Amino acid sequence: MSSLLDAYAKVAGQDVVSHLKQLAAPLRGMKVVHVNSTRKGGGVAEILEKLVPLSAELGLDVRWEVISGNEQFYQCTKAMHNALQGLAAPISRPLLDVYEQINLENAQELRAVLEEADFVFIHDPQPAPLLGLCPGRKGRWVWRCHIDASRPYRPVWRYLRDHVSGYDASVFSLPDFAQALPHPEYIIPPSIDPLSDKNIDLPQEEIEDVRKEFGLDPERSLVLQVSRFDRFKDPVGVVEAHRLARKFTPGLQLVLAGGTADDDPEGEAVLTEVRAAAGDDPDVKILLLPPDAHRKINALQRMADIVIQKSVKEGFGLTVTEGLWKGRPVIGGDTGGIRLQVINYHTGFLVRTPQGAALRIRYLLHRRDRMQEMGDKAREFVRENFLLTRHLREYLTLMVGLEN
Ligand code: UDP
Repeated sequence: MSSLLDAYAKVAGQDVVSHLKQLAAPLRGMKVVHVNSTRKGGGVAEILEKLVPLSAELGLDVRWEVISGNEQFYQCTKAMHNALQGLAAPISRPLLDVYEQINLENAQELRAVLEEADFVFIHDPQPAPLLGLCPGRKGRWVWRCHIDASRPYRPVWRYLRDHVSGYDASVFSLPDFAQALPHPEYIIPPSIDPLSDKNIDLPQEEIEDVRKEFGLDPERSLVLQVSRFDRFKDPVGVVEAHRLARKFTPGLQLVLAGGTADDDPEGEAVLTEVRAAAGDDPDVKILLLPPDAHRKINALQRMADIVIQKSVKEGFGLTVTEGLWKGRPVIGGDTGGIRLQVINYHTGFLVRTPQGAALRIRYLLHRRDRMQEMGDKAREFVRENFLLTRHLREYLTLMVGLEN
């Protein structure tokens, strides 16, 4: 067996890897293309970076293409993302024209590859119009929506629906997100890669080095949220929760670690709001990390006592999975994909308000035995449900199904 598959067998189990090989056998040599809009930053890039090489290891002829856009394009697709997550804001016709024009330009670049492919996975709304721009396609096309589309703003959804209706299937992370589309819809939650720099076990010295680098005190408790600076992630609510929790736990430290994604133009504005909320509080650290700071984020997650993800909308929340995998209970917003991962009183707590988050922080910091117990459960829960191997198994099953 290849050393990569061997390595996955050690974490996920030999049976899991054998099953993958069996499922991949009829798909060997098939051309698979994934398309999204950023190579770095955000959950989709994080997943594709690992899913693609593992699929290749199983014999698929797989590639990952990234469409490129301009500022107005990302402004439009961010507005679409926000609208799918429920924000009631229309998108102007000129912006939609840019969206369509940029897709046309990308189609010219990618057409040969896409039309040739046996399977094309189009991730999220950004490249959705590509299907209509590849009339000579021969393979099956799947629209993979990673967004919490449970209550989309209808006018924007109606527009997008015209672009995605023609796909052979679509995939959502949760049943709640599925929409009335004229093709089969599948539910496949995302996953993390246990062997990636983001998730692999780290030597304690490395964790301590990162702690020193960021000036964090090992003697005081630490809560952490890792996220793009996006209002749906509610970073300001986390600052508020920390302020409340500190009344019971003096000296409690908070780290908000984030960066920007190439396809997210709103980060700067949100960062300014978070900085204003934090004021000059020395116990709130806002860390701006480059998109490849995987080992540093891994170290932060391992040194945190509690991981928070207080989103008000969340497609899935890989940061939740990452925190759980580090054996940390996660205090997560009671929404979207977080509900799939945070099982109240077992792997963490679901909260709706800063006050709720503060109470749970207080509970866990005062009940270290419970914290340990929940953290252990959290890791096993991820091993069983949210590793890359399970994710790929479901993609392979989907492909085999679409073939027939
Ligand atoms: N991430 C990162 N650096 C950052 C912020 C986030 O590497 O500054 C990673 C994070 O560890 C996770 C992914 O980006 O793997 C974010 O995925 P998630 O599903 O939590 O949210 P999304 O950004 O896709 O909405």
